[in-house]
Amino acid sequence: MFTRNKTKVINIGGVKIGGGNPIAIQSMTNTNTQDWKSTVKQIRELEEVGCEIIRVSVPDMESAKNIKYIKKHIHIPLVADIHFDHRLALEAINQGVDKLRINPGNIGSKEKVQELVKAAKKAHIPIRIGVNAGSLKQVHDFSTTKDKAKALVKAALEHVKILEDLDFEDIAVSLKASDVATTVEAYKLFASKRNYPTHLGITEAGSVFRGTIKSSVGLGIMLAQGIGDTIRVSLTANPIEEVRAAYQILQSLDLRSTGIDLVSCPTCSRTKVNLIKIVIELEIALSKVQKKNIKKDIKIAVMGCVVNGPGEAKEADFGIAGGNKEGVLFKKGKIVCKVPENKWVKTLVELYKKA
Ligand code: SF4
Repeated sequence: MFTRNKTKVINIGGVKIGGGNPIAIQSMTNTNTQDWKSTVKQIRELEEVGCEIIRVSVPDMESAKNIKYIKKHIHIPLVADIHFDHRLALEAINQGVDKLRINPGNIGSKEKVQELVKAAKKAHIPIRIGVNAGSLKQVHDFSTTKDKAKALVKAALEHVKILEDLDFEDIAVSLKASDVATTVEAYKLFASKRNYPTHLGITEAGSVFRGTIKSSVGLGIMLAQGIGDTIRVSLTANPIEEVRAAYQILQSLDLRSTGIDLVSCPTCSRTKVNLIKIVIELEIALSKVQKKNIKKDIKIAVMGCVVNGPGEAKEADFGIAGGNKEGVLFKKGKIVCKVPENKWVKTLVELYKKA
């Protein structure tokens, strides 16, 4: 188990992050926030797969006003992502948002910042300073900067100072770049300077395939070093994939439980069942009955043959080791019976439901 950094605790609409609280899983809608019904629909779908905090873009006043309607129909904290216009942030607070993602250095005069910070403080709304290499490129000569990680941290600390000078410390920070090395270095450097909770992510990571791998590598390195209090896997995909990937990353490091630990072999010439098809079907079927928030994952093994099969299946809570068009079912290390290939999925799902 990895030792996590002792960061400050902040409360995002009832979900606490930092200070050793479970690493919260976030995503972001890709609907038009002006269309609040579609936005609510997507958030409800994300809730079903275990999303714990959701962010929406608020690019205009209509979207800011919709926060009230969205909040009314969802069950997880809502974060408003705002750039430049402090009036949108004020309206979002007014409409009951749970957290703001805004960079105070980008919203103009000191008076505007003061007005916003005062409102956030009064409503107990944390602010995430989200420094992003993409937007830094526009304001600094980021592309020619040698130490990009240092530049990201410098920018974040400038924003942090604006808030601290106004006696506001209800802060989370992210320092995202699209390459793993810069991102990791930036978070490490920031963690050595401040104990605000961090929101981890590799920005613009790409498709489900590339983005999941890139995020897993980057987030994995940071999480293993104790850095990170909430994560978002940023993918060019349905945000449901972001949540699924986030759980898998945290499960791989034993930092969160998904309820299921599914072990399966890669198949080889000894395999005499259609294991690839079975595992795909099993994963889909299990996701529909997945138990959330349990302390320990239920381990299920689905193995192709008797070479490694019995060993893995015995170690699992239950599992099947394949034979010729059938398999031997193990439960808590003991052989139970033989199961024909076409009954594996149903049998394992039923056992999971009862476990
Ligand atoms: S468990 Fe058996 S079928 Fe699966 S990869 Fe290993 S040897 Fe091959």
